[in-house]
Amino acid sequence: MIIGIDLGTTNSLAAYFTPEGPRIIPNSFGENLTPSVVSVGGDGEVYVGKIARERQITNSEQTAAVFKRHMGSKKEYRLGGKTFVPEELSSFVIRKLKEDAEAFLGKKIDEAVISTPAYFNDMQRRATKTAGELAGLKVERIVNEPTAAAIAYGLHERPAEAKYLIFDLGGGTFDISILDYNDNVMEVRAVAGDNFLGGEDFTNALAAMFLYKNDLGGAELPPRERAILQKSAETAKKEFAVGKAVTMSYPYNGEMLNMTVNIDDFEKQCAFILNKLRAPVIRTLSDASLKLADIDTVVLVGGATKLPIIRNFVSRLFGRLPASHINPDEVVALGAAVYAAMKERNEIIRELVLTDVCPFTLGTSVSVPGAKGVYQSGVYCPIIERNTVIPASRVSRVYTLYDNQQTVRVDVLQGESRKARENLFLGELVIRVPQGPAGKEALDIRYTYNVNGILEVEVTTVSTGKTEKLIIEKNPGAMTEDEIRQSLENLQSLKIHPREKDEYRYLLEKGERLYQELLGSARYEISSLLISFEATLEKQDPEEIAEAAAELKSFFQMLEDEDY
Ligand code: ADP
Ligand code: MG
Repeated sequence: MIIGIDLGTTNSLAAYFTPEGPRIIPNSFGENLTPSVVSVGGDGEVYVGKIARERQITNSEQTAAVFKRHMGSKKEYRLGGKTFVPEELSSFVIRKLKEDAEAFLGKKIDEAVISTPAYFNDMQRRATKTAGELAGLKVERIVNEPTAAAIAYGLHERPAEAKYLIFDLGGGTFDISILDYNDNVMEVRAVAGDNFLGGEDFTNALAAMFLYKNDLGGAELPPRERAILQKSAETAKKEFAVGKAVTMSYPYNGEMLNMTVNIDDFEKQCAFILNKLRAPVIRTLSDASLKLADIDTVVLVGGATKLPIIRNFVSRLFGRLPASHINPDEVVALGAAVYAAMKERNEIIRELVLTDVCPFTLGTSVSVPGAKGVYQSGVYCPIIERNTVIPASRVSRVYTLYDNQQTVRVDVLQGESRKARENLFLGELVIRVPQGPAGKEALDIRYTYNVNGILEVEVTTVSTGKTEKLIIEKNPGAMTEDEIRQSLENLQSLKIHPREKDEYRYLLEKGERLYQELLGSARYEISSLLISFEATLEKQDPEEIAEAAAELKSFFQMLEDEDY
């Protein structure tokens, strides 16, 4: 069975297809969202999700989050004395989703469709595939997150035709896509976005307000303190969903500091972030040659769109209320599950054809004649332009520049800048050409961008007919076959914490975290409850354990309700 996975920066989810439509697969806590956080315990055991999120504060050195931002790079994370790259950390999240899915569905899962932001480049998509493979899943399809969201809405509403604008604001990424749904064909017309904009920016803004109001404006907090502050800001931020004013508290130097802030002041503080949301919207409309009025439905995706100030902003921008009747947290995973079912050729949705676009321009670097016949080098030559419908294959012909030139270097670049060096370098091919007078030899550079958003480059020397392909493994960010094999071996020795014990482990970790956050008598009570809970766990009497767990849970609940 193929499941759909939304591998988010902040939260990840899995979903599967049923005759009644797509459904989210709950994790070991019975919850739909699994935080994309990984932590390694002293015994080498790997924690994923909610447990790891508690450990961000108590064991921040052994815990990693937001690693999706570094997918496709060689950034290294050192946790529990071992080194991990972003693919490997992501593979733990996927492994956890897979284990939870297998337990829930009672069958083995061997394949997944995974979603990525529309703006992910080739290396980031490749890294996402690798992460799936390292988790023991076949990943033959990558789907853009906004496309998945549109599929979920398209299937839900089944209009004859509609233009969707998908407004996806997650924890750390912002994606805008315009999709055209017509006669069961879903076509992505244009995409744009910002890889460094998301709900976390609003959390940061609230945290900054807090520090400023408490005269700690310039304070450099150590990582653990920073994490506690962030967590408190995050909790307060979410309360704006139900209230006009929220109170945030944070213990600093043995004193509990507070701030009450109303939504108008928060909105003012966030004005510069809200402003950044505008440009990608305008660019997608102009790329798709559409006006705001042409859009039938504006769809909200991503947890951050639950913030009322975002909803108001979107309503004002579009002059109408956006759609959010499919939970913005879940819509991408649900769409990925539909896509997975399509791949399995499920009868119900066989007719939904899908097209997608290349989210950025792919090109190469050339020299062009400038003033007085002097050649200027480093000029960008677009080959596949952004928002071209994929799969796409385009050829561009270049010529030798000098007499007796022996080689031609073909750079593979991605981006929109006129200057070649300002675009992202994806790789290069050095082609030997027969010697002759300048301009005699020609090369055909063919770029093929396939349905997974993966690029193949072929260069053919016209006179000899000889073709060379770009060796993708040379990409600086991508793992080679050998590295993947090695990593699989290394990861095998690491076990993910058994899901049956997740609930109790979570209570212990949460207790540790609350102990570190709180002061005075609350600490004392937490400590004695934890000691007795640990002792109960050792006795291994299921009934007694469940009883003690319930007691601990209600105590934590009381602590949190009291707003310490
Ligand atoms: P990602 O796609 O990056 O994994 P999500 O779609 O899960 O992210 O969104 C996570 C973001 O949504 C976080 O910044 C979180 O604070 C924010 N968020 C979740 N629920 C709410 C809420 N009720 N109000 C405001 N923000 C929320
Ligand atoms: Mg998301």
